[in-house]
Amino acid sequence: MVLFRFAPSPTGALHLGGLRTALFNYLAAKQLGGKWILRIEDTDRTRYIPNSVENIQSSLRWAGLDYDYGPGADQTLGPYYQSERLDLYRTYSQKLLESNKAYRCFCKPDRLLETKERLKAAGSHLTYDRACLHLSEEDVARRVRAGHEHVVRFNSDSVPSSPKPHDLIFGDISDAHASLPTDPILVKTDLFPTYHLASVVDDHQMGITHVLRGEEWMPSLPLHLDLYTALSITPPKFGHLPILLNPDGTKMSKRSGDVQVTDYIKHGWEPSAVLYWLMLAGWRGRAQQSGAQDALINDFQLSNMVKEVSVFFCPAICYLKLSQFDLNNFSKRRSILDPGMLSHLNALHLKHEDPLALARRVQPLIKVTFPQSVLIVLSPTVDLEYLTKILSALSGRITVLNDIMTAAPYFFISPDLASEEAQRLRASVPSERYFGAARLACDTLSSPDLQFCQEEIDAGLKSTAKAFGGPSKHFWSTLRHAVTGMKACASMRNYVPECCLTIKLYFT
Ligand code: GLU
Repeated sequence: MVLFRFAPSPTGALHLGGLRTALFNYLAAKQLGGKWILRIEDTDRTRYIPNSVENIQSSLRWAGLDYDYGPGADQTLGPYYQSERLDLYRTYSQKLLESNKAYRCFCKPDRLLETKERLKAAGSHLTYDRACLHLSEEDVARRVRAGHEHVVRFNSDSVPSSPKPHDLIFGDISDAHASLPTDPILVKTDLFPTYHLASVVDDHQMGITHVLRGEEWMPSLPLHLDLYTALSITPPKFGHLPILLNPDGTKMSKRSGDVQVTDYIKHGWEPSAVLYWLMLAGWRGRAQQSGAQDALINDFQLSNMVKEVSVFFCPAICYLKLSQFDLNNFSKRRSILDPGMLSHLNALHLKHEDPLALARRVQPLIKVTFPQSVLIVLSPTVDLEYLTKILSALSGRITVLNDIMTAAPYFFISPDLASEEAQRLRASVPSERYFGAARLACDTLSSPDLQFCQEEIDAGLKSTAKAFGGPSKHFWSTLRHAVTGMKACASMRNYVPECCLTIKLYFT
């Protein structure tokens, strides 16, 4: 069976880069008819941050990336926390020690530092002089019996290293070993394994066939392959996903804006838009062929895929069209994440999403944001039908769902006529025209002959605008000012009857 894994460390909230790695593991597993695991790599106790795992799980849930095996899912291949697998790592390190593929090192930190500096000054590429490799068996046994603190190091010379490791995305890697420290540590003084040993042992034990992980782990690839050789086990295939960059070419970091998935959830971005955005960032050819974002979107036939939205739990997964997912299409160039692209994708998603589904999601937010709203007082749940109509009226005008509160508060509360924007709008209509237009609109809306539906209101207001006698711009600006207090708002012509209820309330 094809088996992928996403193996984050619980060192804080899930970042966009991690979400992208999870996405690609998910997609690749689906594409190849396989499965994927969530494995928690928690062997570095010094970097452990409480609640990280919960954050990772809830972020994956938000994105709809459900794993087959892992905490809270199928336990067959567990345990999934590395801290619960220590015996296993001990067995493997013992195997390496017994076959002289690893050795115990008793050097103290100050000696190690001094040795490293001395070797560097002498122009050596080594970072450790391998002094402990030459300790006699008796000496080692005596020190262990006496409880001397030590680490276990890999004996790099014990295996022929692969000259050019192959990567599914980067191809053959030359000089792969150049950045590795001399005889890397496999087991630390606290008896916990390092990432290298634990990850190789687990990938083997769990039967992982493909490792897709961030580019930052590529320098470890040659060591991992050497460990597979030393243990006489077959390595999985490896692919490294290029680092994500900001539009200005800098690496994404906390200081450069939102990097945690939680930030995107909080700001109301659609999971499908975020996933599609992450997906496009690494796509070769398409991203280079044309700078036009729309071309990219058409390429994936977003509009066609959007039609299927209701069928899937996670719309993004159908956007991404599994048939197009092919690691060969993945770029090895560092990928730029342009926030403008995300806005574009998110707005598109909202435009195509079922307004009733959006209304259900936004309903609780409205209640919290506008507790003072007359509508909320009248109808404590904020009518779903009303919200649906508002969302249709705002279609194409909001970027994220939460924008409904800032872009069109007038649907819920009285307009802020004291605002600068409202005052400027008011000043654009001469007073006698303003009051004339207001009176006429009010008469039209309160006429007993008027059916209170959109078509009649629209027709009624349009003919009133014609009969008004002044420029129709003044008529509509009056309405806009009185009802919304805002210059940019949903088109008055699309106003839904309930909104006109606000008009009516205001004028009468
Ligand atoms: N535990 C590593 C991390 O936190 C992942 C390494 C891997 O996937 O091999 O990102």
